[in-house]
Amino acid sequence: DLTTLVREIFVLLEQQAARRGTHLELFPPNLPETGLLVVADRNRIRQVLVNLIDNAIKYGRDGGRVVVSLVEGGRSVRIAVRDDGAGIAPEHQNRIFERFYRIDKSRSRESGGSGLGLAISKHIVEAHKSSIRVKSTVGEGTTLEFKLNKPKSGVLDQ
Ligand code: ATP
Ligand code: MG
Repeated sequence: DLTTLVREIFVLLEQQAARRGTHLELFPPNLPETGLLVVADRNRIRQVLVNLIDNAIKYGRDGGRVVVSLVEGGRSVRIAVRDDGAGIAPEHQNRIFERFYRIDKSRSRESGGSGLGLAISKHIVEAHKSSIRVKSTVGEGTTLEFKLNKPKSGVLDQ
């Protein structure tokens, strides 16, 4: 259940976001309390979302917004994590998924981390027969997104 999962992660990262004055938002705001189901390994997808949201807070703007949007399509749900930070230049956009790749070594070292989060996230999303994409504009912000399949009717949530 993606809605519940994202709300749990917001609670987990609330203090980290508050230290930077970052607003964590779920979009659309009127999502049902529960019921946006996908077929996925809940703990692995939690790990992906924690990394994407952690990145959005770390590399986003102080006092900025991080928006997680959950958009239901016919057979899948599109999950996107967007920030309004400095963005990622085109020449770095594919490389951020490489192990240990960090764009600004000194700044990244300040914010901790090892450069593994996106490499691991890419593997996990691909193990779900999906793919992860980055869209970013320097000076405007970054969106990381992927899709997960909805259950076929008759498959139970777990
Ligand atoms: P770890 O996730 O292992 O703690 P990390 O966050 O540095 O460390 P990744 O999550 O793999 O590693 O990200 C790789 C690099 O991509 C980051 O160091 C940062 O330079 C860049 N990056 C990731 N997300 C964003 C973002 N939302 N905005 C700008 N740069 C980003
Ligand atoms: Mg990371």
